[in-house]
Amino acid sequence: MRAFLIALASVHVVIAAVSAVMSGPNIPESVWWWLNFDLTLVVVPVAGAWLGASIVHTTSRRRWFDRRAECAVRCALAGLGAGALGAGLGLLWVIWIDGVHEALGTGAGSFAAAVAVVVLLPRARPGRCVRCGYSLEQTDRGCCPECGGYATLTL
Ligand SMILES: [Zn+2]
Repeated sequence: MRAFLIALASVHVVIAAVSAVMSGPNIPESVWWWLNFDLTLVVVPVAGAWLGASIVHTTSRRRWFDRRAECAVRCALAGLGAGALGAGLGLLWVIWIDGVHEALGTGAGSFAAAVAVVVLLPRARPGRCVRCGYSLEQTDRGCCPECGGYATLTL
């Protein structure tokens, strides 16, 4: 899950940096403004995504998040997708909904996007290869005959 969250966080950091540069001279010289800015655009969305991904992964394990599956690159790509989707949803919220703090929108959008993306990742099932999902119930060896991968998943 680390690669997923790092990639997702990098999307939000880039968006925050770009919007800070674009606002340029209009930014007040205030620590509180920056704190609010960073919380709204980076900290809260990343926390929301972490919460969403953790809830899905805890409820029903995902193979890609198992370190033995060696899926860091795919996890990072999923994280980029979830980050972009979450930022889009957060932006829609901020545009359409007034009167609540914008961080609620960016957090909720990021949470929803992380849940939607992680739900699509392949599930880990007992007795199946952690890397490719091949059923290992018929094999008594510790490794997968399909991909040469790792021992059966113990849940
Ligand atoms: Zn396998």
